[in-house]
Amino acid sequence: MIQECERCRELLSERMPRFDSVRKVRGGVPLLRDHIVDQGELLFPRAFELLFNPHQWTADTIPNFPVLSHDQTRMCFTFHVVNAPLPFAAACVRITCDQCGLSHRPVVLNAMLIVLASHLTAAGLGTGLNPRRLSEFFRALHSDAGSINEFAAPDSVPRAEIFAGALWLAFHEFGHIVGNSLVGPEQVEGPESSRVTIAGELNADLAAFRVLHHRTIANRPMLDNFPVLLCGVEIILRTIAAMSGFDGRPRLLRETKSQVILTHPSPWQRWSVIRAYAAIDFKLGSGDRSFYLNHRKRLLGNFNRAINTMRLAEHFDAAN
Ligand SMILES: [Zn+2]
Ligand SMILES: [Zn+2]
Repeated sequence: MIQECERCRELLSERMPRFDSVRKVRGGVPLLRDHIVDQGELLFPRAFELLFNPHQWTADTIPNFPVLSHDQTRMCFTFHVVNAPLPFAAACVRITCDQCGLSHRPVVLNAMLIVLASHLTAAGLGTGLNPRRLSEFFRALHSDAGSINEFAAPDSVPRAEIFAGALWLAFHEFGHIVGNSLVGPEQVEGPESSRVTIAGELNADLAAFRVLHHRTIANRPMLDNFPVLLCGVEIILRTIAAMSGFDGRPRLLRETKSQVILTHPSPWQRWSVIRAYAAIDFKLGSGDRSFYLNHRKRLLGNFNRAINTMRLAEHFDAAN
């Protein structure tokens, strides 16, 4: 474990409350955090151990571990789950100690993203809230004072997939540090000035994906978890797409295709890159592609329809 100094603690206790107030964080959700970590350990053995111990991040100690060689042993990752209004999904705070030089990377994930992902997936599976309630719920999650307790929790939710997707998002920051440059700026669409940034984000996504994928095949035969990871990433990106509109209207993943954000790839771009690499992984023998396709169809086949009916319900409300 890396030792932090007195000044580290001071900096963290100054910076984190500022982050919380900007994001309107209403508190931590340690129980969900523990669930995600436990589930992560089952799906991707030792993934967190790697995240928290940077001296282990080398391809020398772990065969085929898809990371660059580097010197990042003075880096300290922590993982937090909080309750905040959407559209905040996840972020990483970067603090470097001016005394001991330790770099702190608290990764913060919004529990409400998981809640929304669960409800949207449940609606796609034909369970959970009806379209009108779902639309009210969607708005409540975006509100500063929104209370979600009055909405029933969905009962059949693919928890492993959703947690896997959430973990991928959390590992994105790790991907920024250890990832290879697989996607070049000339390969991405977007304004000339932001192509380097967008490619950097896509490479971090890919590295996070490949690190977790590596965990599913490294320790024991866990190839079945590859489709779980892939579906999880798609659920999370579809959920992020849903809340990516500036008008507050839920969006479909494909509708973000032409979306331009100067600092970030669109959810569509992110999914296209992951999907392309997953196709190569399947060709190389990572699991049964037809099993994945069937699994995906069952879980996500009606995701778009759920969003569409929710939008219709909203439209109907507005017209009346
Ligand atoms: Zn320090
Ligand atoms: Zn990033």
